[in-house]
Amino acid sequence: MSGTTKQAKGTWLHRFAIRFLTLVLAVLIFWVLGFLVNDIQDIRGPDYSEIEKRHVDRGLVSKSEMLSEQIAGVTRQIDNQTEKQRVVGDGSRSLQQTINQLLELQKLGLQKSVAFTETEQANFTVSLNMFLDNQRKYQELSQAVSELVEKKQALVREKEQAEQGINRQREPAMREFQRLSERHTLKLAFLQLAILLPILAVAAVVIIRKRASIYFPLFLAFGGATLVKVAMVVHEYFPSRYFKYILIGGLLAVVARLLVYFIRTIAFPKTQWLVKQYREAYERFLCPVCEYPIRIGPRRFLFWTRRTVNKLVVPAGRDEREEAYTCPSCGSALFEACASCGKIRHAMLPNCVHCGVAKEVK
Ligand SMILES: [Zn+2]
Ligand SMILES: [Zn+2]
Repeated sequence: MSGTTKQAKGTWLHRFAIRFLTLVLAVLIFWVLGFLVNDIQDIRGPDYSEIEKRHVDRGLVSKSEMLSEQIAGVTRQIDNQTEKQRVVGDGSRSLQQTINQLLELQKLGLQKSVAFTETEQANFTVSLNMFLDNQRKYQELSQAVSELVEKKQALVREKEQAEQGINRQREPAMREFQRLSERHTLKLAFLQLAILLPILAVAAVVIIRKRASIYFPLFLAFGGATLVKVAMVVHEYFPSRYFKYILIGGLLAVVARLLVYFIRTIAFPKTQWLVKQYREAYERFLCPVCEYPIRIGPRRFLFWTRRTVNKLVVPAGRDEREEAYTCPSCGSALFEACASCGKIRHAMLPNCVHCGVAKEVK
């Protein structure tokens, strides 16, 4: 016994290394699970543009696009005409100034009884004609611009109607896309859990079965990493409303389990537990410390495990010879001479089979 306790504890550095490596192992396993899950997440979902093509009339869409182009063209024309109008307007204003000046001169001339010269008269006529010409052009341009504006308004109305039609047709497309997206998300969640849950189940079984094994940290890392990954996937894909219940359910189970554990620890002190464990091991002819078969008597040349022990056919011909026995695997004394009667007794059970004397189980 003392040999195994020494082995199990090890130095401070060893214990630290084991804890640290357990953590590293957990992180690595978590990573590997992450790769698996990410590959599933890369599966492509529904394509909205494809769905829209099925629902929305292509003719209507191209009509709307064409109308947009026409509107842009008309807008450009309006801009051009307005610019021209502005230039003509500027010309008109400067001509008007010239004419006003000429009129002013003429007025002064009349006051001084000096008549307009012929050149002056000609200039005045030319300016007046140009002014009138400009005014006419300005009117024409105004007319053109207002016609273009009307045309643009008509086009905008037509485009609005087309857009309304498209939007009406888009509604079912959006609904279908949403439905397909939800289904795709569920599929992803299902696939991920289909991979993770069996792994988690295996981890749980291994942890429960091997809780006494010296390799327990390995299994713990495996189980812990898987559990965290499952929780993350569940949280990602299911609304937190459901997740809340799953989480609270899991916590309830863990807390209840811990409570049971502590209650039992108080109710049955540790030695009692140990004796129970040792007793069960002796019943199966297995070393209570390392589970290596206790190969004595007719079982000397057989081999068995916890599971196969009851299926074993033990050869007849009894070897009644009793002698001390030490586990060849872990070195624990399993049968030893009784300190009281000197006969061979179980080394790890409280009482001698022969004289009944009690000894303390460590
Ligand atoms: Zn052993
Ligand atoms: Zn005895």
